[in-house]
Amino acid sequence: RPPIVAIDGPAGAGKSTVTRAFARRLGLLYLDTGAMYRALTWWVLHQGVDPADAAAIAPLLVDLDLQLESDAGGEQRVQVNGHEVSEAIRGPEVTAAVSAVAAHACVRAALTGQQQAMGQRGGLVAEGRDIGTAVFPEAECKVFLTATVAERARRRAADLAQRGFAVPPLAELEAQIAERDRLDSTRAEAPLRQAADAVELVTDGLGIDAVIQRLVDLFRE
Ligand code: C5P
Repeated sequence: RPPIVAIDGPAGAGKSTVTRAFARRLGLLYLDTGAMYRALTWWVLHQGVDPADAAAIAPLLVDLDLQLESDAGGEQRVQVNGHEVSEAIRGPEVTAAVSAVAAHACVRAALTGQQQAMGQRGGLVAEGRDIGTAVFPEAECKVFLTATVAERARRRAADLAQRGFAVPPLAELEAQIAERDRLDSTRAEAPLRQAADAVELVTDGLGIDAVIQRLVDLFRE
């Protein structure tokens, strides 16, 4: 069976950057599951549906068409129902609403099923909140990537600036990140937590290359 690597952790722990590079080094498909929850959230907002209203969201899942593909730089592009939303899903509106959408059982069942189907087709490196605990509990390599809230807020600020979004003060970003951590780790369905057999990697003060090397070492073990 082709290998499955699960990389979980809270918002802004540097998962995307290192997971993408790591997947490329291993020659495996990169799956950003957060982008799937974000793309659905974009669609929910676009339809004028309340992110907290599970009964109104459920019908949107029936013929949801989420298309993921990697561009030349290895970044994952996302389309939802024919709309190219790769940039828009990184903005503040989607970020503020995504944890509410992701908490619904119907949403998790739909997206988890799609992720597992991708894992059936071949090896991949998947990043998210519940990959090692719920999506691929049998993954052969599991990593829990984390960093302090202060460090994650600084990374989020740099990421927003690079993408051309307005950058709020760091204290505000810290509060937003702490709130998303709270929502993601206290929900009933597949809450954010470290799998018992995951290796924790704290990335404060570690450069991207150091984290990638650490992942490669862990994978080879
Ligand atoms: O990783 P990212 O910040 O893009 O994830 C956005 C949100 O999607 C998370 O805050 C969480 O609410 C949700 N998510 C999830 N399960 C995953 C990946 C993301 O609930 N596997």
